[in-house]
Amino acid sequence: PICNVLVCGGAGYIGSHMVRALVARGCTPVIFDNLSTGHADAVDAAAPDCDLVRGDLLDRQALRRVFAEYSIDAVMHFSARSLVGESVREPALYYANNVTGTLNLLDAMREAGVLRLVFSSTAAVYGNPVTERIAETHPLAPVNPYGASKLMVERMLADHAAAYGLRSVALRYFNAAGADRAGGIGESHSPETHLIPNILRAVLGTGPALTVFGSDYDTPDGTCVRDYIHVNDLCDAHLAALDKLLAAPVGTAALKDGLTAEPGEKGALYYNLGNGLGFTVRQVIDAAARVTGREVPFTVGPRRDGDPARLVADSTLAGRELGWAPKVADIREIIETAWAWHSDQKY
Ligand code: UDP
Repeated sequence: PICNVLVCGGAGYIGSHMVRALVARGCTPVIFDNLSTGHADAVDAAAPDCDLVRGDLLDRQALRRVFAEYSIDAVMHFSARSLVGESVREPALYYANNVTGTLNLLDAMREAGVLRLVFSSTAAVYGNPVTERIAETHPLAPVNPYGASKLMVERMLADHAAAYGLRSVALRYFNAAGADRAGGIGESHSPETHLIPNILRAVLGTGPALTVFGSDYDTPDGTCVRDYIHVNDLCDAHLAALDKLLAAPVGTAALKDGLTAEPGEKGALYYNLGNGLGFTVRQVIDAAARVTGREVPFTVGPRRDGDPARLVADSTLAGRELGWAPKVADIREIIETAWAWHSDQKY
């Protein structure tokens, strides 16, 4: 469907890929971003004709203005602080940006009568897994402030469904990775903390040698296991979620339809997004060495605070209810797209 989507955080890594996917789908994205970690260059590359409104979720007036100026059908919300380690050291930043910021967004949406939201959530809402693969039924017990902040928002979304007829889909990402070759966009953080970019920067010599955070976990080779999912596959799931939201009534009409506050009921849906495949840090290093044809310089250091040993998704529900399936499941293919970006990094 043709629709206007406010993309909060659209200048960031995943957000910029989303903006490109929305344009390809015939939607008109409007970006709201404070450019604290995002890049205006990413917007230029992803969607040169798209409006970029520079603003902060903590600025309620700025949010109000954007809803007054544009006619928005739905919101996609990628603006958040998202580093586990940082969240342990600076939890106040996480609660302010991720919780208060999102509450401000919800207030502005309600005021403007915009009641459809796709929210970027995370596997970190689960904490330390008690099952081999994590389904949505897994206990919610975050072990770091980042995960806690996202879980608080999910709770708010459920309450907003019951009281205001807000319809939302929270997508619980596992490890987003890769880049859009054709789009000239990719992952660029400063400082970079994520595994695959750090490996590739170590290979290229544009970053320091990799430090592997801990090799004494209870995993096959002692390093952490993660489920890496291609950024474009994440975007596909957002489009499916958007379609689902656009097809359903919101507000008073939805309340008559029987929306409840029960998380997972039709008002506030949530889905895991992962490949269902776990790779250790060592395996990712080995795959990157094969993709790049070069040695990956690394040393082993201590564990990083807040890191669970293993996070692997069961995304059956997203497959069933969103009709979603990842297209790039192979870790080497994911790394190839990241490598194409990093070896010719534009911003
Ligand atoms: N990791 C690492 N060295 C790095 C960056 C990450 O060993 O320089 C490990 C990290 O401890 C985790 C995995 O790689 O087990 C993925 O980390 P990343 O920060 O990419 O994503 P997260 O799992 O925190 O969302």
